[in-house]
Amino acid sequence: MKNRMIRSIGICLVYILLFGMLGVQAAADAEGFISTALTDPADGAAAASREYAVAAFAEAAKLDGTGSLAAFSDADQVSSQYAGSLAKAVAAGVLKGYEDGTLRPSEPISRAEALVILSRCLPALRETRAAIRFDDVPAWAKADIDRLSSAGLVEGYGNGLLGAGDALTVEQVRILIGRLAEQASSGETEGLSRDILVLFTSDVHCGVDSNFGYVGLKAVKDAAEAAGNHVLLVDDGDSIQGEPVGTMTRGEAIIGLMNAVGYDVVIPGNHEFDYGMERFLELTEMADFPYISCNFNREGELVFQPYVIREFDGVKLAFVGVTTPDTLTDSTPRYFQDGEGNYIYGFMQDGTGDTLYSAVQQAVDDARAEGAQYVVVIGHLGNKAEAEPWTYADVISHTSGIDALLDGHSHDSDKVVMKNKDGEAVVRQACGTKLSGIGWLRISASDGSVDTGLYTWNNDVSASELLGIENEMNAEVEKAVGELNRKLAEVVAYTAYDLTIYDPEAVDGNGKPIRIVRNAETNLGDLCADAFLNQSGADVAFVNGGGVRVSIGKGDITMNDILKVFPFGNMLTVVEATGQQILDALEWGARAVPGENGGFLHAAGLSYEIHTYLESSCTEDELGRFGGVSGEYRVKNVMVGEEPLDPARTYTLASHNYMLLERGDGFTMFDGCKVLQNAVKLDNQLLIDYITDTLGGMVGEEYADPYGQGRIVAVTEAPN
Ligand SMILES: [Zn+2]
Repeated sequence: MKNRMIRSIGICLVYILLFGMLGVQAAADAEGFISTALTDPADGAAAASREYAVAAFAEAAKLDGTGSLAAFSDADQVSSQYAGSLAKAVAAGVLKGYEDGTLRPSEPISRAEALVILSRCLPALRETRAAIRFDDVPAWAKADIDRLSSAGLVEGYGNGLLGAGDALTVEQVRILIGRLAEQASSGETEGLSRDILVLFTSDVHCGVDSNFGYVGLKAVKDAAEAAGNHVLLVDDGDSIQGEPVGTMTRGEAIIGLMNAVGYDVVIPGNHEFDYGMERFLELTEMADFPYISCNFNREGELVFQPYVIREFDGVKLAFVGVTTPDTLTDSTPRYFQDGEGNYIYGFMQDGTGDTLYSAVQQAVDDARAEGAQYVVVIGHLGNKAEAEPWTYADVISHTSGIDALLDGHSHDSDKVVMKNKDGEAVVRQACGTKLSGIGWLRISASDGSVDTGLYTWNNDVSASELLGIENEMNAEVEKAVGELNRKLAEVVAYTAYDLTIYDPEAVDGNGKPIRIVRNAETNLGDLCADAFLNQSGADVAFVNGGGVRVSIGKGDITMNDILKVFPFGNMLTVVEATGQQILDALEWGARAVPGENGGFLHAAGLSYEIHTYLESSCTEDELGRFGGVSGEYRVKNVMVGEEPLDPARTYTLASHNYMLLERGDGFTMFDGCKVLQNAVKLDNQLLIDYITDTLGGMVGEEYADPYGQGRIVAVTEAPN
């Protein structure tokens, strides 16, 4: 049965190879070549021997070194007619033999083995199209076979299979050589026949159906192709994280959508690592496109290719990838460390910026040396002052040879033209976030000039919805979101008690429950604060009452329930704060008690009293934010664990980016704090992780009291 299948696939292969790709002329060229250089084995259908295949490739590639076969233990078995050609292949480093020191010259050669050798015989191969992704290519052969496929030399069986393990036939050797001859005779071209249009996205953050959405992106790409451009699509990072469709599938749904829309080159942003290093590397295997980065390394070795080159009409365009070294603090540090807490992954993050600039320069120079006429950096760098010395401007001003830098990370959509190290103009273009913009870079066929710009869609209604766009991405997006909705409904944990934001007994004049989560402790507030403390390892954790949105009823907990508690997608952040800053925050959060205030602080690792008989003496700045405390603090007896809070001491404090970094709810007292973990994990994810991993999937006894564990005590009358 298996044999019959293989045979029929084989017949199919010969058909495709002979009639699908090859002209009669190419076959004749192959014949001419073989008859002058080597003796062609008579039986075309027979398996090609290793010596015949390698010799034929070496001659076709015009290898010209002089090596020796003497190192192989079975060198004496090589036919004399092939020995000279094989020696050239050894000299070129493409023929290495088996680990046991043999060459096995007369054994059949598998298609994968043969193609890897052929690829390595052709260092200057011109890649002119996207590689076909065969399902049966082993990892060791993938890069080489992709190259050959991109160059139009390999087609496979037409059913997604290459037949990697099948024996290569004599006929197939001749066909491959025929194609090479055909390419060589087609000669050099005159330059671009049409414009190259590079479309780019950045910081999509799972906005699969916001703004343009992937449906709109596909429509723009299709239209650009239909208009006669050579079109490429690249991404500047931060695509797989930001909404439940990413979190719930740990990135996989987004990679699927990116495969479907047809990305050509992608770089990692800082948020590509939010699901852990192992998971990110897994996702890169699922991707049909390469990830590149000239600075992401493991113990000094680059993890990805620093650049890739794409060629149209003989014009080579290189993309160099660069990822902000801020990634080390903008993601979870432990993902970049070994078990002992030593950093093994890095981004060339030396404080002067020089290592990063050198890495970029090296990649640019190497791409130029490989013949790239244009070099475009795709960067996740951004324009923020805190990213110095690694902003886009730092990189451009310290390098030369870059034509344009397509940038992300800071979510802006600015176009800036600035001088490089040699005083030459370089354009930097960004494109916003959540597919609100699709950036473009055009290389003109008429004068070779480079320009950039932006297509924008800043509307509440997505492009696909408003315009009724229909293409293959509608179904893909629907599939990803439909799958998500099923997952959201799955039961992930259980609570033995109602977890509440309301007073369990009191009702208002209309018989409605009274919300207390914004002026008093509740068990849900405790649970949320505990999750931040547990997942951060900090001394103290705060959660603002206004951010805890709904109660969770006794019984099953679904992911949907969790998302409703924390719907905003705030992210775990840890800073170093003094006891005084912590006290000020508590005072600010408690200023309205017994009235409600969104900034009311639930706490873990810490307890405090609010002496409500004292008026709040918080002052506000012109924007209504914390300005200081002018009188007696109403927050008293603050304990961190068993110890009184020391105003002069430094503590590690966990909360979310909104409060600690963005002055949400007016918390200005954390300005300038040292950031230890910057927006590393979604709040809803950390809450479910705490319940499932730490509490074992069961919210139990310790959260039984709806009024919480006594961490926040209101003192209504002055003690005597
Ligand atoms: Zn970013």
